[in-house]
Amino acid sequence: MAQSALFPTYSRYPINLVKGHGSWLWDDQGNRYLDFMSGLAVTNLGHAPEKVKQKVKEQLDELWHVSNLFQIPQQEQAAQLLTEVSCADAVFFCNSGAEANEAAIKLARRYHQKIKGVDRYEVITFEQSFHGRTLATLTATGQQKVKDGFLPLPAGFKTVPLYDMDALQEAIGPHTAAIMIEMIQAEGGVYPVEPEFVQELSKLCQAQGLLLIIDEVQTGMGRTGSWFAHQQYGIEPDIFTVAKGIASGLPAGAMLAKDYLREAFSPGSHASTFGGNPVAAASVIATLETMKEENTPQKAAEAGAYLVERLKAALDGQPFVKDIRGMGLLIGIECAEPVAELVAAGQKNKLLFVTAGPNVIRLLPNLHVSHEEIDQAVDTLAAIITTHTSKEEAKL
Ligand SMILES: *Cc1c(COP(=O)(O)O)cnc(C)c1O
Repeated sequence: MAQSALFPTYSRYPINLVKGHGSWLWDDQGNRYLDFMSGLAVTNLGHAPEKVKQKVKEQLDELWHVSNLFQIPQQEQAAQLLTEVSCADAVFFCNSGAEANEAAIKLARRYHQKIKGVDRYEVITFEQSFHGRTLATLTATGQQKVKDGFLPLPAGFKTVPLYDMDALQEAIGPHTAAIMIEMIQAEGGVYPVEPEFVQELSKLCQAQGLLLIIDEVQTGMGRTGSWFAHQQYGIEPDIFTVAKGIASGLPAGAMLAKDYLREAFSPGSHASTFGGNPVAAASVIATLETMKEENTPQKAAEAGAYLVERLKAALDGQPFVKDIRGMGLLIGIECAEPVAELVAAGQKNKLLFVTAGPNVIRLLPNLHVSHEEIDQAVDTLAAIITTHTSKEEAKL
């Protein structure tokens, strides 16, 4: 095959997917796959959800793009809907998770420097976290592998071990502006953060005048069984970020904050050419309206409980499986060994899923997945794991 004209930033699977509907994808050979990765927690309503498709088509017939220098009623409505299902009062639209986190970091700095008049700019994050690939967000990310070869990194970030309150207290200084955390370290291996720690963190931020930023890029939009994962932790962040599932597959992201942070961004202080454009905003509106009508977060909670119950029953007594954990439909299966071969075996058996670190299988079906589809995925997965372990035993 001729050399690709693309940068080799991805090691791509040898599959060419050409069509999607609900939980199913088809390749150019006519093979049908059960999709338990959802484009990495993006197609939360399944592929080509009818209402979103209609609304986006209608918008495409009217107007594609207009500058944020004009009124954009679709963007107003999308923001309104997001504030109705969360503790946030103000929304900034962008196009991705990394950009949403950039906006959060910029807002935190600007709030302290312009509203409070203090020299606070530093953001503290946690080891094993993931916050994106821009220079600021990869610096915030608590994983060395994303930083390799990109020195020097921007100043103003510190990373401490999760759950280490002493290290955190020590890291907080006169220049600390915010603490940023995911409720589930998803890329880091699907580790839900302990509620007591999150609650302590929230109190600490309030006591010390620091902003709590929650990265909900993967956990948000119903994925974990509530609109946003932090709603299950009994806390309210000052700022949180969303992207992946927000527009059912169109590129969109958002940074959301409490009312007292609104004035920290004045006209000209932050911007995005495409952010919240009419087509993206129409998709956000239709995604949120569908989720409300269908009670999607509740559905994700129920389907997630069923999936975990079925996994536990099917994989019980498998020494290869060390742990099954997660929230809603963000589920990790920690294994005794690397699982890359299992991903390939899944694809051979027409089941698509991803990893989260070398040893963890990550399951991310769409939030309207049926019990029959869950049964089928669990049966396939159990068969793959059994075959894999007996092959490994034969090698000994
Ligand atoms: C995917 C992800 C990001 C980055 O989002 P992009 O849209 O790829 O920039 C940031 N934070 C978390 C928790 C993510 O899962």
